[in-house]
Amino acid sequence: MTVLIAGAGIAGLSLGLSLHQVGIPFRIFEAVREIRPLGVGINLQPHASRELFELGLETGLDEIGLRTEEVAYFSQHGQLIWREPRGRHAGYNWPQYSIHRGGLQMLLLRSLQDRCGDVVTTGAAVTGWRDTANGVGIDLTDRQTGASLGQVEGAVLIAADGINSTLRAGLYPDEGAARWGGTMMWRGLTRGPRFLTGRSVTMTGRKDVKFVAYPIGDTGEGGSLINWIADLTMPPDYEWRKQDWNRSGVLDDFLGPFADWRFDWLDIPTVIRAAEHVYEYPMVDRDPLDRWTHGRLTLLGDAAHAMYPIGSNGASQGILDARVLAAAMRDNGPTTEALEAYESTRREAVNALVLANRGDGPDRILDIVADRAPEGFDDIEDVMPLTERQQFADGYKQVAGMDIAALNARAPLIAVATEGTGRP
Ligand SMILES: Cc1cc2nc3c(=O)[nH]c(=O)nc-3n(C[C@H](O)[C@H](O)[C@H](O)COP(=O)(O)OP(=O)(O)OC[C@H]3O[C@@H](n4cnc5c(N)ncnc54)[C@H](O)[C@@H]3O)c2cc1C
Repeated sequence: MTVLIAGAGIAGLSLGLSLHQVGIPFRIFEAVREIRPLGVGINLQPHASRELFELGLETGLDEIGLRTEEVAYFSQHGQLIWREPRGRHAGYNWPQYSIHRGGLQMLLLRSLQDRCGDVVTTGAAVTGWRDTANGVGIDLTDRQTGASLGQVEGAVLIAADGINSTLRAGLYPDEGAARWGGTMMWRGLTRGPRFLTGRSVTMTGRKDVKFVAYPIGDTGEGGSLINWIADLTMPPDYEWRKQDWNRSGVLDDFLGPFADWRFDWLDIPTVIRAAEHVYEYPMVDRDPLDRWTHGRLTLLGDAAHAMYPIGSNGASQGILDARVLAAAMRDNGPTTEALEAYESTRREAVNALVLANRGDGPDRILDIVADRAPEGFDDIEDVMPLTERQQFADGYKQVAGMDIAALNARAPLIAVATEGTGRP
C-alpha cells in the first residue's frame, strides 16, 4: 500500500502531507543529506494557498510570508502600466503569499515530521525503478559516495525529483538538459525600503531587460526584505553554464542596463548593490510531455512540467498536482488508475501554462508597451487602453486556473473540517 515519493521539495512534501490527510501510507526519499532552506523568494497563488490552508498551514504561512496586496507593471522609464489587487484584496477567498522558498520547504517538512514522524529519508537518491509482482521496486543510492543503499518496494512511485529529474530522464533518455530560452536571471535579497503598498509585486522594463521586485518580509525598522530578480537576454553564443540554484553571481555581469533605473517608487541600482548575496541562474524549462504516467510511475511538480518563473506559478502548480493526486488515490487507492486520473485532470492544463510562460505570460504587457512607446508616454490610455490591459490580465488567469469566481465556487479537492483551515 505504501506510496514511494522521490524528492522532498515543495511538491513531494505537499504530497506527503496530503496523503497523510487521506490516510494513505507513504515514504519520501530525498537525494541531499540535509534539507536546508535554500533559494530566494517565490509567490504562492491563491489556488495554492487554499490547498495549504486546507492542510492547516495558515498560521505557519503567516509566520514566514507576506500576504501580497497587488501586482504592478512599470515601463523601463518607471511609469505605471497596470496594477491589480491580488489575493484576498482581489476577491479570492484565500491570499497570495510572497514567501521565501526555503522557508516554505522547511514549514512543509516540519509539519510533515510533526504529523507523521520519520517518513523522510535523506541522503537517498532514487536512481532506478521496476515493476514487481505487487507494485514497484526502487533503487536507492548515496550520491556523495555512489554507494548503493539497497532497494525498497511500494505500491506506486511518484517522481517529484525536480527539473533535472532522474526518473524522467529514465523514461525519456533522449530529452537531455533543460531548455534555455536565452535569458539569464540574477537573484538576490536586500534589506531595503518599504515601497508602494509594502506588499507589492512589481515587474519593470521589457523582456530583454526586466527587473522583478517584491518584499517577502518586514525588516523591523520600517523597511522590507526585498526579493529581486534581474533578467537579461543574452547573445545567442552566450554559454549559459550549469544550472545550480546556489551558484554565485557577479554584479558587473548585469548591473549596467539597470544603472539609471532610479524611480520615485524604488531606486533599483541601490537595491541591487545592497544585496547580501547574488545568485545566477539560467531561465530554463522543459518541453511539455504527452504522457506523465508509465504504469506505476508518474511525474509530479517540476519533474512533470518545469516552467519559466513567469506569472509566479511553478511552486503553486506543484502543490496543486499533489492535492489532485492525493484525492485520486483516496478515490482509487494507490493504483495506476489513480495516477491516470491525476494526469487526466492536470496534464493538458499545466502544459498550456508552460507554453504561455514561454511566450512571457502576463509579462508580455511590458513588451507591448515598450514597442508602442519606447520613449515613454504621457497617458498609458493612449498606448494601451484599459480594456486591452484588463483582457490581458484576465486571459492569463484563465490559463493558470486563477479565475476568481471559479476558485471560490469550487468544492475542496480534499474535504476537511472547516475549523482552523482558513476556509470561509
Ligand atoms: C535548492 C533549490 C533552490 C531553489 N530556489 C528557487 C528560487 O529561488 N526561486 C524559484 O522560483 N524556484 C526555486 N527552486 C525551484 C522551485 O522550488 C520549484 O520550481 C518548485 O517549487 C517545484 O518544486 P518541486 O518539488 O517540483 O521541485 P524542487 O523544489 O526542485 O524539489 C525537488 C527535490 O528532489 C530532490 N531530488 C532530485 N533528484 C532526486 C532523486 N533522484 N531522488 C530523490 N530526490 C531527488 C532535490 O534535491 C529536491 O529536494 C529551487 C529548487 C531547489 C532544489
